[in-house]
Amino acid sequence: MTVSSFPVEDTTVTLLQGEICMQYTRCGKTTCRCREGSLHGPYYYRVWREGDVVRKDYVRRDRLAEMQAGCDAYKALMDHLKQSRQKRVQIEKSIRGEWRRGKVSIAAKAD
Ligand SMILES: [Zn+2]
Repeated sequence: MTVSSFPVEDTTVTLLQGEICMQYTRCGKTTCRCREGSLHGPYYYRVWREGDVVRKDYVRRDRLAEMQAGCDAYKALMDHLKQSRQKRVQIEKSIRGEWRRGKVSIAAKAD
């Protein structure tokens, strides 16, 4: 994937760390239907990590698609950066190899 084809570029999506999780819950009322197993929900949360702390934020239903898109875009960006780093390491390795063999080439092959 090249930088110019990166999917985030043409959109206005807000990058969001983490992932969207779905949950059904039980309320505190002793007479509620959820006591019999008919739980409330689904409710959506965004869960992400900040250092050693796992954070969780409620996601309103009307913002679910937008938040999901933000998480997907963030993940795609991170994957893209990881691949770019790996590619750079490969290129650097091959340049060092050429250097050691006394064959320094100016143009490193990108793909
Ligand atoms: Zn209930």
